[in-house]
Amino acid sequence: MPCSVGRAAHRRLTLAGVETTLDRIRAFLAEHRPPTPALVIDVDTVLSRYAALADAFAPGRVQYAVKANPAPPVLRALARAGAAFDVASPAEIDLCLRAGAPPESLSYGNTIKKPADIATAHARGVTEFTCDARGDLDNIARHAPGARVSVRLLVDDGPDSITPFGQKFGCRADEAARLCLDAASAGLEPVGVSFHVGSQQLDPGAWDVAIASAAKVFTTVSEHGVRLHRLNVGGGFGVPYAGPAPSVETYATGVREALAAHFPDTRPELVIEPGRAVVAEAGVIRCEVVLVSRKSEADPHRWVFLDIGRYNGLAETENEAIAYRFDVVGEHTGADGPVIIAGPTCDGDDVLYQRTPYRLPLSLRQGDRIDILATGAYTASYSSVAFNGIEPLRTYCISEGRLISAE
Ligand SMILES: *Cc1c(COP(=O)(O)O)cnc(C)c1O
Repeated sequence: MPCSVGRAAHRRLTLAGVETTLDRIRAFLAEHRPPTPALVIDVDTVLSRYAALADAFAPGRVQYAVKANPAPPVLRALARAGAAFDVASPAEIDLCLRAGAPPESLSYGNTIKKPADIATAHARGVTEFTCDARGDLDNIARHAPGARVSVRLLVDDGPDSITPFGQKFGCRADEAARLCLDAASAGLEPVGVSFHVGSQQLDPGAWDVAIASAAKVFTTVSEHGVRLHRLNVGGGFGVPYAGPAPSVETYATGVREALAAHFPDTRPELVIEPGRAVVAEAGVIRCEVVLVSRKSEADPHRWVFLDIGRYNGLAETENEAIAYRFDVVGEHTGADGPVIIAGPTCDGDDVLYQRTPYRLPLSLRQGDRIDILATGAYTASYSSVAFNGIEPLRTYCISEGRLISAE
């Protein structure tokens, strides 16, 4: 039987010391049995993913996008490893500072900010800001005099971004060049250009068009006597969910080739800003089946209701954008069948998957446990406070297999 062969091979690997993230998380869950739903983050995996990205993009600077998972142990471990941070609010700034990150390592990447937020960031020692509009640039000049400024370019995130940003952020190249020059006139230090090609971007070629457009901004600005020297190519690096994703090395090669093509003379300093690629694969959500039902006896589909849904951690299932992998815990060796998977709240939109074909064992019953894999990014941080009285997703961080925080 293929599955027992798999298990034997798995045991051999574990005995040989090749323990996977999932092994460590499952061992923790077996020992501690936290109430479900529970997100378990293996901080050692966060560090190895960070190291892989830092290696692949060396000597580029890695700014971890805090919104993907702001758990304090994650931030502490990354700060200790020398990561920089992309922050979007005074609260995220304080989280990073409390985690031991020096203020120089923080970049205020959110282009939507109040004057008071800029003043707070400045008072905390943050010296780098991103903007994409005149109004925000004026506020930065007023409330963070002398700050370093990057201008965010609007790029087409194309059909291969699973969770695109659309048109919300960035400005066109001509406006970006103008803002860089205006920043210099306003006594700020324009350092370069940033962009984001859309999250879970599965096309490594997507960076090429954006880097070409950034190079134009560098040229235009230099023609007016201002030299830019930094290129922030954003995040967006994909991870495998139900389907595969390119490797970190493939993304790095794509970026390196685009830099060589569009910056033939002087290569700018490279900054990457990954969120998902640092934390997604470090996390597993253990949840419980609340109910299995059919709308009629003849209905081939079972509805499987979980104790986690759109509002307590799985927001990225909106439009079924992210198709997570589900792994039923325990012995379910019989046949499987088609299911619609839904969350626990009284909201009609709290259905996770009804178009994406999912199959679960026919033996699945209420009370069974399911592990949802690669759920370390954009889960706990998207969880509502108490929709329908359901509490936010709890995060348990482990390192070397031991619990280091629960909140
Ligand atoms: C969210 C965000 C990121 C991280 O994006 P991922 O797709 O998670 O890598 C990086 N930069 C900015 C400005 C962001 O808003």
